[in-house]
Amino acid sequence: MKLAFVFAHPDDEVLSSGGSIAKYVALGHQVSTLCFSSDSVRKEEYFSASKKLGVQKPMIFDYTDVKSKELEITKDFIDYLLDFRPEIVVTHLENDYHIDHRAAHNIVLEGIEWAAHETQHKNPHLVTKLYVTETTILIPNPHILVDISDYYDQKEEAIKCYKSQLSKGGDNFYINFHKNRTQMRGAQASTKHAEAFLKVPLKQNSPFYSKKHSEL
Ligand SMILES: [Zn+2]
Repeated sequence: MKLAFVFAHPDDEVLSSGGSIAKYVALGHQVSTLCFSSDSVRKEEYFSASKKLGVQKPMIFDYTDVKSKELEITKDFIDYLLDFRPEIVVTHLENDYHIDHRAAHNIVLEGIEWAAHETQHKNPHLVTKLYVTETTILIPNPHILVDISDYYDQKEEAIKCYKSQLSKGGDNFYINFHKNRTQMRGAQASTKHAEAFLKVPLKQNSPFYSKKHSEL
């Protein structure tokens, strides 16, 4: 199985779903992460964090901003989808607090739609499952809780790679917030640590897709 974890900024992938990323790598799946924006410091931190999680294909675009570059990023994201061809994509919540996170959500939906059009591409790709996950805005009622208890230490090690971000929000906010959040999700899931996801329905057929019909 191929999974793509796609976010606005380097660190979003670790904070939201770092445990699940490490878990799916360990389970033998092909995992890619993609961040739409970067600067030189966070780019370096991103590759260090990706190493801690064992990500085989960490990708990053060099945009300094997401919202104002939606169209350009969507085109690059379609190229990424056509190259990596993931079955599963994970991204930000639609109603996230950060304007770039909401923009990334829209880019992902738009890119998934257009990557599937045979009218646009010789070798289109249809993503079959889309999940959204949480950073500092919490999902009220998650559809899926992934048990990351065995991978929490790896997630925390990866968070610590983002030295430029660790002072934000006050002393130890990042570590404390995400430790408490995964423990709260763990309590909901009858385990120690978990990460929460919502499933977003995706169209599976269209007159413009290679796959024009299927069964219920
Ligand atoms: Zn972010």
